[in-house]
Amino acid sequence: MKLEFYGAADRVTGSCHIIHINGQKILFDCGLIQGSRNARELNYADFPFSVKSIDAVVLSHAHIDHSGRLPLLVRRGYKGKIYAQNATRDVAGILLQDSARIQQEDAKNENRWRAKHDKPSIEPLYTVSDALLCLESFEGLKYREKHEIAKGVCIRFQDAGHIIGSACVEIWLKEGDVERKVVFSGDLGQYGKPILNDPAVITKADLVLIESTYGNRLHRDRSHTIDEIGEIILRAGEDQGNILIPAFALGRSQEILYELGTHFSEWGLEQWQIYLNSPMAIATSRVYWDYPQHYDDEASRLRKVVQSLPVMKNLHFTESVPESKALNEIKHHAILIAGSGMMSGGRILHHLKHNLARSECHLIIVGYQGRGTLGRLLIDGVEEIKIHGKIYPVNIQIHTVGGMSAHGDRKDLLRWLGQFEPRPHVALVHGEPQTREIFSEAIQHTLGLNTTMGHIGDVIDIAEL
Ligand SMILES: [Zn+2]
Repeated sequence: MKLEFYGAADRVTGSCHIIHINGQKILFDCGLIQGSRNARELNYADFPFSVKSIDAVVLSHAHIDHSGRLPLLVRRGYKGKIYAQNATRDVAGILLQDSARIQQEDAKNENRWRAKHDKPSIEPLYTVSDALLCLESFEGLKYREKHEIAKGVCIRFQDAGHIIGSACVEIWLKEGDVERKVVFSGDLGQYGKPILNDPAVITKADLVLIESTYGNRLHRDRSHTIDEIGEIILRAGEDQGNILIPAFALGRSQEILYELGTHFSEWGLEQWQIYLNSPMAIATSRVYWDYPQHYDDEASRLRKVVQSLPVMKNLHFTESVPESKALNEIKHHAILIAGSGMMSGGRILHHLKHNLARSECHLIIVGYQGRGTLGRLLIDGVEEIKIHGKIYPVNIQIHTVGGMSAHGDRKDLLRWLGQFEPRPHVALVHGEPQTREIFSEAIQHTLGLNTTMGHIGDVIDIAEL
């Protein structure tokens, strides 16, 4: 009965852990590695385990840094089931196909460059048909229901309050006479955030794997963030430029629209045209509107919230590529919301190409920007940036507003962890090394729990806990 760390142990993206039990291997998450300089190489590399030896896969939530290598896993021979919360299964369907399209596009761009430099071409990491095949392996489960997924392994999803469908996974393990319980936090949301529930209370575990993305900091008060966005929009109106908001299609995009709708007159939004330039953001919203049979409490509440918003006549949903390209001709008073959230791909890159050099334009960064991503470079104040092989000067006014995170901060994470009784052992995953050090000290100091840093390749003997 062992836990082995394979990914996201030393970085923020690429979540992947394995529990060994009764001669079986259960994989928890299989995320895409994003941001680091050698991300492509790492994603293309062989999995550090035999794919065919995996007996079951459990997915905590649909974000690509948790799910993005699943199509590759299936393409490389995984034949078993992928267990996910119902809404996660639906949303993963959209996200994985989109990820596949990005992979295909990336390979095309890379091969164009390679052809010029006499280098051999590469295959996409996976394709849309790989993603579709992978989706056939998904088995949707409800929150709060216990299921046996392998010999001696039962799981139960609990709401993690991070994005729709996101789950903390309770894992009951039985091997011979030894019984243990592990809880995998997945990504945890903020307490008191609008739309989603607070992370569920879980009280029992021998071992807790907890994410530590924001374990070293406290989010700014949400109301300050909202005020700041309002001020930026008002200032941008006077500057006569555009506003770019890179946003994750799932969660963040809907949240931004929610705030724009709520503050419509106050922020002078009638003078702007607002574009949600993301077929995926549009589609993820539709999942909940078109499939009422999958509604749970959270989705019902989201639906009510959105229906109660004022109708924004100047809000446009941009789906087709020509429509998206046409947006680049607009020189002022357009609010362009597009992915990807960390500006590592997607339609936002085209908007950046057309607006980066213009000092009258504004870029509002509302989400976490992983190390090595284009978003992080912009926050760090680089003077020029390379997109699709071309250099662009950075004159756009950049604003980083911190309070809208889908992730809980140190206070939230400690609150969730503090509910366990008796005191579990804690393994920190999914965070940058320095952050995890700081968070680990906070856990020991505040809660008096023993902690382990899960480094890639490390093993915890669960039976010994
Ligand atoms: Zn996430």
